Amino acid sequence: MSLSYDDSASLVFINIEGQSDFDVSSAKCVRLNNPNRIYFDINNSVLIGAKQQLVFEKSNIKEIRLAQFSTEPNVVRVVVTFDEGFDTSKIKLLNVNGNIIIKADSPAFINDYFNVIYDENPALNPYSSIVAGSQVIQKTQMNTPQNFSSQNKNTSAVMNDIYKAFSSSTLNTNDGKTYDSVISIDLSSDLKLRTKYFINGYYIKNGGLLVSGLGQMTSTKVFTLDSPKRVVIDLPNTYVDKKIRNKELSICPNGGCTDVAKIGQFEYNRARIVVTTDKPEKYIPIYSADAQSMLLINADKLNHTTLVSSVANIQKAYTKKLTTKSNELILSFTTPVVHSIIRNDDYLTLYLFNVKSYNEPDLIKTFNGTAFKSMTLSLLPSIGVKAEMKIKKDDVIQVAQSVDGRAIRLTVSSVKETKPEDKKSSSDVVEPKKPPIKNKVVIDPGHGGTDYGAIREGINEKDITMDLSQRVASILKSKGYKVAMTRTEDVYVGLQDRCDYTEAENPQIFVSVHVNSAVATEPYGIETHYYHEPSKELAEVIQKHLIKNINTKDRGILKSKFYVINHTEVPAVLVETGFLSNSDERAELITEKRKQATAKAIAEGIIEYLKAHK
Ligand code: ZN
Repeated sequence: MSLSYDDSASLVFINIEGQSDFDVSSAKCVRLNNPNRIYFDINNSVLIGAKQQLVFEKSNIKEIRLAQFSTEPNVVRVVVTFDEGFDTSKIKLLNVNGNIIIKADSPAFINDYFNVIYDENPALNPYSSIVAGSQVIQKTQMNTPQNFSSQNKNTSAVMNDIYKAFSSSTLNTNDGKTYDSVISIDLSSDLKLRTKYFINGYYIKNGGLLVSGLGQMTSTKVFTLDSPKRVVIDLPNTYVDKKIRNKELSICPNGGCTDVAKIGQFEYNRARIVVTTDKPEKYIPIYSADAQSMLLINADKLNHTTLVSSVANIQKAYTKKLTTKSNELILSFTTPVVHSIIRNDDYLTLYLFNVKSYNEPDLIKTFNGTAFKSMTLSLLPSIGVKAEMKIKKDDVIQVAQSVDGRAIRLTVSSVKETKPEDKKSSSDVVEPKKPPIKNKVVIDPGHGGTDYGAIREGINEKDITMDLSQRVASILKSKGYKVAMTRTEDVYVGLQDRCDYTEAENPQIFVSVHVNSAVATEPYGIETHYYHEPSKELAEVIQKHLIKNINTKDRGILKSKFYVINHTEVPAVLVETGFLSNSDERAELITEKRKQATAKAIAEGIIEYLKAHK
């Protein structure tokens, strides 16, 4: 009937109607070269319609083709073309209800597109069910962000690590872990092909309930119910094997809690997972990077390091306005990422569990002026990155992950027209503000701790910003000025924390110290950023002194909505003291001469400004 590609990216379905005597256990696969391919024949069969093929652009498997090989006798031939050196033992054939499934261990099928992991309106998802009919995955359907894929060699190693955390197959291995409760079955003859996800097991693993299956899972919003208290998560277009339905599993088989989990077929095409617990609000779903399993776990018991050991960094962010009411954000990572989505009425939280660092100013630049401007990121010890943004009650959220696990796409669609933003909430004017403390300065050394800022040739932005800031502080103090610093050690400090600290210190001005970087290696020079008009003069004065003291390019002052200079009440500027990405300037930036000249110039600028504003 057809050849179809499930968006799990690891299953290809050959849908067959009628009686086929094809037996996977005795199927004869023939391997040929030029191009590298294997084929197998389905005897006594007729292909309905034209020959069909699936093309994979960036995977080891290049193509799967279905064609009528002969008509007397009737033989349909399936040809799988792959890269030189591809291990064909990775290809598995399954026979389900007479249909054939070609399964390949990832990353055999890789394509640049996204699995929808979380969907508040699944009816709108074009992949919401596997339907008969051949489907060639077209580039245009893939929503490909520019160059997020490719280069990384260790993707598959990290994917393996993530698979292990979510895989039920490790249950049978001697990995030293014990699995106290297991309810599972083998892939049975029960599989319904008109579902997108087939649950064939649930287990207690890593302190939570692991739901695993075949196909591609999409979940809806988690909700809670009372008497008894329970947390519920529905999976649309999902079929639960009859043998595991409604069997109860204790979340804490060795004591420690009385939580009990159960999976049922709530509707003919909808699975429901229910955990009866005293603390339903504590449960969060964690999605595996291949969209084939989910761990439902009490957040208090979560330790990402026991889940996956791999570390990812946020590489790039892209935003796009899809329609007047719909916007998307794509975050790309250096390696595959494990995530969780928690949606409340007025905010959305995205946990990126194995993410350890990101370039804050870059991200802020990307979010500025977009629908994602309220997004803040913070690094939580032994958890990872928590990204939060304000949303509206009626917003519809969809989250998808690229099949290589290295990008997450968040789509926010508003049902209602957006109103112009309130200028100021009434609570802002309740308390009269204390006047700023004269001749007091807050210096903000950019980045720190796990946030390295720009990194080039082993030189970290966070170290230079600290060195410069300390020099500025000591010059100012020696001349009798009061100085406070947002950090004095190599520690991570969040952007809002830097603003809160500044507000508490109540200085006359705020100066953030950074080092610039660009993808291109040519740009060099110094620039000073301000955002609010009253900060412009401070930016001009500091930039003037920098250019006077240092022989480099004057890139001028720029109005930029960086978080720290946008959320600070007093005059606030952000100095980019040179480009780490330019080899000549990088060499100079770490010299004693340049560092002292930069610090001296910033201090002179600050003093000139403060003298003019006594
Ligand atoms: Zn920076």
